[in-house]
Amino acid sequence: MKKKFLFLFLITCLFVGCHSKMKEPYIEGIIENSPRIGIHYPVTNIKELDEKTKEYILNIKKKFTHEFANHFSLKGIPELNIDYEYTVIGNRYYNILFAVFIDSPTLAHPINEIKTFVYDSVEKKFLTVEDISSLNIGKIKEELLTNYKDCILLTELNNTITKENLQNIKFTFTNDFVTLYFNPYEITSGNCNIIKLKIPHSNLKIEIEKEEINHTFDYKPVYKNLSITKPTIALTFDDGPSKYTKQIVELLNKYNASATFFILGNKVKNYEETLKYVLSNGNELGNHSYNHKDLTKLSKEDLYNQIDMTNQVVKDTLNYDIKLLRPTYGSITKNLQKKIEMDIILWNVDTYDWKLRNAKKIADKTLTDIKDGKVVLMHDIYETTYESLKIILPELEKQGYQIVTVSELKEIERLRNESKE
Ligand code: ZN
Repeated sequence: MKKKFLFLFLITCLFVGCHSKMKEPYIEGIIENSPRIGIHYPVTNIKELDEKTKEYILNIKKKFTHEFANHFSLKGIPELNIDYEYTVIGNRYYNILFAVFIDSPTLAHPINEIKTFVYDSVEKKFLTVEDISSLNIGKIKEELLTNYKDCILLTELNNTITKENLQNIKFTFTNDFVTLYFNPYEITSGNCNIIKLKIPHSNLKIEIEKEEINHTFDYKPVYKNLSITKPTIALTFDDGPSKYTKQIVELLNKYNASATFFILGNKVKNYEETLKYVLSNGNELGNHSYNHKDLTKLSKEDLYNQIDMTNQVVKDTLNYDIKLLRPTYGSITKNLQKKIEMDIILWNVDTYDWKLRNAKKIADKTLTDIKDGKVVLMHDIYETTYESLKIILPELEKQGYQIVTVSELKEIERLRNESKE
């Protein structure tokens, strides 16, 4: 009996991957400057699911480009942001949530919208909330009225929360909760935001395999011997982590180089192992917002959410304190500067890797512009950026460069100034 169990376990590991060694998902990022576009979505390698989610993303992007993208004005640049949440429950149930945000000088208020996809990878079908739980309709209405009293429109509520309409309700679930989502105007007036109703599981119709997640990580700083005489640059990577990040760190290791990775908070949980690898190899993490919204346009509360949520998820997951911030789109105002209590780091060499997408061209541009003391901007979400480093790093080694993190570069500058005094 025991043997059979072990055999089954091994087979499961072979085909779906054991949790502890589960392959990290691939999160696709689309970042464009003008208009502002920041989109993230998971690629699951389940054809039916990927087709549906991609279709949804591309439709929104198309609609945005058509309706808003040309409406530049003094009041601002149009912006589309699609954030995601992605979890696989019990190695079987894929939960994907998209939070769409559209702002444009032509809109009185930004548009906010949620969309969810829940997929059963064993039965190979999309699930409705009825498939997983027998919810009590009276109880849902009661909860909504108690928690969102000032927002709820009674007619809309009674028309939406019905037995017949349950299959259309947006939802996700975890081991402990099912969460229902309602977009503005669905059951509320337009001036209320998205409603998110979390209900503890009762009458669950499915069985969820319990997973053990090991979050412990003992972060230890890696101290390097820094030279104050060698020409030195700081390499920085924005918009990651991604499936290329680990490869980039492996390459940096070969040349005794380290870098600062300005990461997005929304990807931290999906790339936990990659980030542990980044830190264990003497690199540094910086904050690049939670989901790449343009920070200059946010309310004080939204701004702190973007920054604090990223710092917090990194602290909780990696036990690491982030001290540096790189604003999205490199866009910073005096007002924003005043509100942020972190060190803001820009750059003075732009490799244009996001635009060139050609290893040789990126390498040529970078090597032409590099000088002692420069901070170099790259993005670890493109394969061509990784390929360009295979040209850049050996050349810089030949020229005697030392490649360090932003904090190490600052330290070297301090030591150089001190030795002059
Ligand atoms: Zn960015």
